[in-house]
Amino acid sequence: MYVHILMLKSNLKTTSLEILKTPQGLIKKTLGSSLEFNSETMPNTIKSSLKEIALFENEVQHLMESQRKLFYSNTTRSVLFRISQLKKLKQLIKDNEAQLHKAIYADLKKSEFDNLTTEILPFYNEIDFAIKNLKKWVKPKRVKTNLLNFPSKSYIVSEPLGTSLIISAWNFPYNLAFIPLIGSIAAGNTSILKPSEMAPETSAIIAELINKNFPSNYLKVIQGGIPETTALLKQRFNKIFFTGSPQVGKIVNQAAATHLTNVTLELGGKNPAIFTKDCSLNMCVKRMVSAKFLNAGQICITPDYVLVQKSIKEKFLTQVVAEIKKQNYAIENGNFVQIINDKNFDRVISLIDQKKVYYGGNSSKKTRFIEPTILTNVSTNDTVMQEEIFGPILPVIEYDTIDEAFAMIQKFKKPLSAYLFSNNNTIKKRFLNEVSFGNGAINDCIMQFTNHNLPFGGVGNSGTGSYHGKFSFDCFSHSKSILSKSTWIEANLKYYEHTDAKMKIIKKLF
Ligand code: NAD
Repeated sequence: MYVHILMLKSNLKTTSLEILKTPQGLIKKTLGSSLEFNSETMPNTIKSSLKEIALFENEVQHLMESQRKLFYSNTTRSVLFRISQLKKLKQLIKDNEAQLHKAIYADLKKSEFDNLTTEILPFYNEIDFAIKNLKKWVKPKRVKTNLLNFPSKSYIVSEPLGTSLIISAWNFPYNLAFIPLIGSIAAGNTSILKPSEMAPETSAIIAELINKNFPSNYLKVIQGGIPETTALLKQRFNKIFFTGSPQVGKIVNQAAATHLTNVTLELGGKNPAIFTKDCSLNMCVKRMVSAKFLNAGQICITPDYVLVQKSIKEKFLTQVVAEIKKQNYAIENGNFVQIINDKNFDRVISLIDQKKVYYGGNSSKKTRFIEPTILTNVSTNDTVMQEEIFGPILPVIEYDTIDEAFAMIQKFKKPLSAYLFSNNNTIKKRFLNEVSFGNGAINDCIMQFTNHNLPFGGVGNSGTGSYHGKFSFDCFSHSKSILSKSTWIEANLKYYEHTDAKMKIIKKLF
């Protein structure tokens, strides 16, 4: 029986352990080797870690109870309360912008410009939109009633789900933590937020700001990695909103299934960008390159690979290289960021096949810098095509016909995003009808993310559910259907005795 995955700290080393409970005692699994022990032979480090986890689970349990109590007091349902909390959150971020810049620079070497444009301003945009529209969103929505139910009214009431758990990723640590939180607050829930431990400075500042300024029975940030998230996932939340990889998405989904908790999964995938021979090459390459190398390619919606029509391939490659040079990507000038940690650095580097490097390929482990790298002569069987790259490497694959390009995309699981660069209207229509993906753009990349009138989410392996704008409010709400019947008349059709005459009328009314 599965019990825990632990992180044990001894001196400078941190080890991941899987602790399995069997009839023979506990089994510790590390790096493929397993070591058996029972409660007497168990090392003290494991005993104390198990104790720590038990204490933490106890704390989480109390926190959940306090949040549930507040929720059932109806405080968080008040629309004025929700608006006041959204305003408070916005002001908190405004007052602490400098600290937020400092923390994200420490984690990723992200410039102030990029932090503003990709994290803070999208957050202001979303929160202002929620504050402005919340009174409208919470109003019961009247819908038509069918004749069978005459005389009555039908409407849909958006009700808060209860206590939400938001688990976020490190690549846009503020954006991916705070924007879902807007949805949870706007919908009238209490929330627990678990930022990614892989961006420790931003996780710490998020925790400090929220935990100092909001009561824990309303909003609470819990920091930590796998053991803490595992403990949180055991709780009966009313909503789990997860941003991360499909692998961990499956773990989250399984945990949610235990309590039949409503889940939104914002995952990733291999996003294609197709270039057809008639595209406006200069403009399209410029847009694609800027999207691909933003955040050093550590973006869930970035183009993962390019499919380019054979006849324009050489011109395309020349243009891509020229554009990369023009953008002058370097950490020192703020045009680029570092890879988040050594583990990811090694993973991304391992995807570069030096024989296939058309441009770039240099790196520095010390600064966790990987140069924008273009790979050519790539086939769909290459290592780089077997997983989401999530780094500054761009494999370029050529194709002859658009059918061939679509067939290549269909070899992979459904991507989070897909992009088409083309001026051919027939191909544009076919792209929309024949290629399945979560969200995308024609003649641009990633900018769909900035339009809060578009739901943002994946499909299949790239996720389920969506958010942004009004969709965030809906994501954290339940749409309660109400039929409100008047009592001044009763048709008596449904009551016994069921006659042929009644049957005739019912058939007409349905
Ligand atoms: P990840 O799945 O490793 O981690 C995400 C979160 O899950 C973190 O908070 C982490 O602490 C937690 N976690 C990790 N392992 C866990 C486990 N075994 N049990 C429970 N919780 C666990 O993802 P990441 O490396 O932070 O982010 C990269 C991935 O996220 C990529 O696949 C990317 O495409 C995806 N992503 C998606 C979106 C989106 O909006 N769809 C946005 C950003 C990133």
